[in-house]
Amino acid sequence: MFSLDTAASPPPDPRQALARADALCQERGVRLTELRRRVLEILWNSPTPLGAYAILDVLREDGRTGAPPTVYRALEFLLEQGLIHRLTSQSMFTGCRQPGSRHDGQFLICQDCGQVDELNNPAIEELLRAEAAAREFEALAQRVEVLGRCPDCRRGAIDHAA
Ligand SMILES: [Zn+2]
Ligand SMILES: [Zn+2]
Repeated sequence: MFSLDTAASPPPDPRQALARADALCQERGVRLTELRRRVLEILWNSPTPLGAYAILDVLREDGRTGAPPTVYRALEFLLEQGLIHRLTSQSMFTGCRQPGSRHDGQFLICQDCGQVDELNNPAIEELLRAEAAAREFEALAQRVEVLGRCPDCRRGAIDHAA
């Protein structure tokens, strides 16, 4: 049966998220280089998902002269390690809230403020895989993005109406 996690998952503290990434990379024997770590930190410090060029802008503010390919390589690494997700509908990146387990995740994207909440419900992934398999389609990755309005923006809209 489905288990529903009704509470929105609070985004972890950026320092916690980075410490978790350090531990995971060490466990796996892969290198979270300074640049990769900084890119992850930039994503966690942002209240909304960021595109590669916005990340590049912050790196330039740091005084780095990073070319776009270096940022893309860092993002590629973070994606491979499951530390971030790519939101395809907007070509943006966001930190993964449960980086220890491999998953595609499902995303609630607020169209008003751009905030993203991540669901990680294996039942949804399984159901989609089964539906695809029933059509003899081999599912390699899933991108489930739900567009709408977050609790904060809904409250704001109600307050304005009152
Ligand atoms: Zn995730
Ligand atoms: Zn919102």
